[in-house]
Amino acid sequence: MREACKEARRLHIGGIVQGVGFRPFVYRIANRHGITGWVLNAENGVEIHAEGDAAALDDFAQALLAHPPPAARIAEFETQHTTLRGFRTFEIHKSEHRQAPTVRVSPDLPVCEDCLRELFDPGDRRYGYPYINCTNCGPRYSIVRALPYDRPQTTMRDWPMCAQCRAEYEDPSNRRFHAQPVACAQCGPNYVLEINGTIVRGTAIARAAQLLREGRIVAVKGIGGYHLACDARDAAAVRALRERKYRKERPFALLAHTLDAAHSIVDLDAHAQTQLQSLARPIVLAPAKVQLEGVAPGNSDLGVMLPYTPVQHLLFAAGAPDLLVMTSANRSSEPIAYRDEDARRTLSGIADALLVGEREIARRIDDSVISHGEVSTHPEAVEGNIIVIRHARGLAPQAVAALPTSHPIIAVGADLKNAVAVVVRGQAFVSQHIGDLEHYEAFVAFKETIADLSALYELPQDDVCIAHDAHPEYASSTYAAQMHGTKVAVQHHRAHIASVLAERSAFDERVLGFAFDGTGYGEDATIWGGEVFLGDLTTGLQRVAHLRPAKLPGGDAAARYPVQAAAGFLHDFCHSALLEGVHRYHLAQQLLEKNIRVFPTTSMGRLFDTVAALLGFTREITFEAQAAMWVEHLARESAPVAAYPFPFEDAQLDYRPLLSAIIADRAAGRDIREIARAFHEAVAQGVLAVCDAYAQPRIVVSGGVFQNTLLMQRLLDALGDRLWTNRTMPPNDGGICVGQAAIAALSTSNPMTHST
Ligand code: ZN
Ligand code: ZN
Ligand code: FE
Repeated sequence: MREACKEARRLHIGGIVQGVGFRPFVYRIANRHGITGWVLNAENGVEIHAEGDAAALDDFAQALLAHPPPAARIAEFETQHTTLRGFRTFEIHKSEHRQAPTVRVSPDLPVCEDCLRELFDPGDRRYGYPYINCTNCGPRYSIVRALPYDRPQTTMRDWPMCAQCRAEYEDPSNRRFHAQPVACAQCGPNYVLEINGTIVRGTAIARAAQLLREGRIVAVKGIGGYHLACDARDAAAVRALRERKYRKERPFALLAHTLDAAHSIVDLDAHAQTQLQSLARPIVLAPAKVQLEGVAPGNSDLGVMLPYTPVQHLLFAAGAPDLLVMTSANRSSEPIAYRDEDARRTLSGIADALLVGEREIARRIDDSVISHGEVSTHPEAVEGNIIVIRHARGLAPQAVAALPTSHPIIAVGADLKNAVAVVVRGQAFVSQHIGDLEHYEAFVAFKETIADLSALYELPQDDVCIAHDAHPEYASSTYAAQMHGTKVAVQHHRAHIASVLAERSAFDERVLGFAFDGTGYGEDATIWGGEVFLGDLTTGLQRVAHLRPAKLPGGDAAARYPVQAAAGFLHDFCHSALLEGVHRYHLAQQLLEKNIRVFPTTSMGRLFDTVAALLGFTREITFEAQAAMWVEHLARESAPVAAYPFPFEDAQLDYRPLLSAIIADRAAGRDIREIARAFHEAVAQGVLAVCDAYAQPRIVVSGGVFQNTLLMQRLLDALGDRLWTNRTMPPNDGGICVGQAAIAALSTSNPMTHST
């Protein structure tokens, strides 16, 4: 080829392109197309200088876009002509001096097929090595201490590579070229088993598998923290785990050895299977086919995931039962334990042994949870009925929204299911699920995560906007008040709607938005939770309708007692003999009569609680939204039935006719599953009646109530593509931070926010 035909191009590629084997990939493609020049990791992506003839350069660019490495996400691709330098070869250059890191940290990745093959190949030098990984797989976010993503900035810093690992790490043609956590049994960390004060090396995993087979409880260090594992089919082991963990009824997640093992316990359609096998390897909630005693009491779904770490694969290969309970290791609702000392301290009374990995975890990250309902029958609803319930391992810290601002923002989220977001150069990065801030440990984790993300993304110390919930008593709001920067208070339910719009970069789209949840601070200082908004993000969302206000004795504390909500909702118009004998109901009635600690509410979550109480859930709940989930699962056991009346009049959805009808049906002995179903149909019909009244083409729903897969299916059936829901963020309060960030990004002076 004559030099005269050659030209030079500069390519910039942004997105998740570091730590995912992108440079060796570019190197291979360049060699294949006869391209010379270089590639390097720059501060905001990958930069390529490519020389060749025009056709080869076009092919090269096409090939880069066509099949990037599995974990890469290309968000930007720019190309421009540049000066020809006459390079003879293609090389991988050292990283450029860094400025501001808007490069995305990859979420953690499951072990890949190639590594699995080596893991179980007796001839391979990493045979049985629990920390095997390569550029296509392994930990990322959970080991990064600072950007750029280089070994000295990870928790692998303390394990110098042996000569063989180093050679692989430095060879551009090797699958482990610049795989930062690369290691082997000679040079890297390993697992040990701590049992009764002794430490087992060498046979640690085999011994752990044996303990699991014998019905014991083993704590296993994973990617983002410790799990507690036991045989899911051993009712005694499951019961012991519940007792020791003080976890009464909240479902346990399961780890199935194989897809077949998962199929044997839950109904998985193609969508659910795709989710189960996706790179995030989330816990997928799917309808149970079998009863596993004590695993998910009163719940018709089971949460299942597939192995994603080498150590999980090795446990199964060593004979662990093919279906394990695999639940976050903590006491009650504390955050997951991830430091070895903490694990030893908090798990000593729970686990019979600890399988401790020597690699440190940089930050705690729970498993992600995805719920999967029946696929909608609407011809245009192609996305399925998939709801992210918990945004954590494998998903965080992904950029979930591009916002029209250059101003850095920290959005601190809400107090329940807290997660925080940082906005850097208009990209909103969301943390992993942190937890409920009323728990001290979660609040500590909340503060750590803000500091962590601020450092990781190098947010300025002073000139930053802090978005927080308008609730003056939220721990997150109080903490925000002490932070440096301009404060923006965002009303809770507007943040829910904004989270959906932000995900879709729909800043001017006029929408009718439904925010249904358990509780949130309303701008009239009452408890909101059944709110309808009209407007867009740029000019503001106006509250146009809501659930008819009810009385709530005890305020937010009533969330623990469905009968307390029932007393409040029924107080003004009818009475139910069904609840006569319930002590809490009487206490609540006394509060109502004396008008002590009685608050107005428009909460849909409390309406679900009221219905739960009328259907027989009269005790205290043991985890958030338990009663509402119970009603949903009852309803799913019934065939479709006619809806109860839920009229929309005077900008209010009136629950009185439906509650009266439920009380009458209960008195007449109607099956409670049918009643629950008719109630679900009523909520769906109520939403659709409001949609009719406002005649908007675009409908948005968000808030914890819309985790209800039956309700969502009804709405998808009726509205199809008109309906926008959260796609990457949870509709529950875990998504609030993104909505706060979006509203803060768009304005500090619009009617839905106020700066303080
Ligand atoms: Zn691999
Ligand atoms: Zn090595
Ligand atoms: Fe909420």
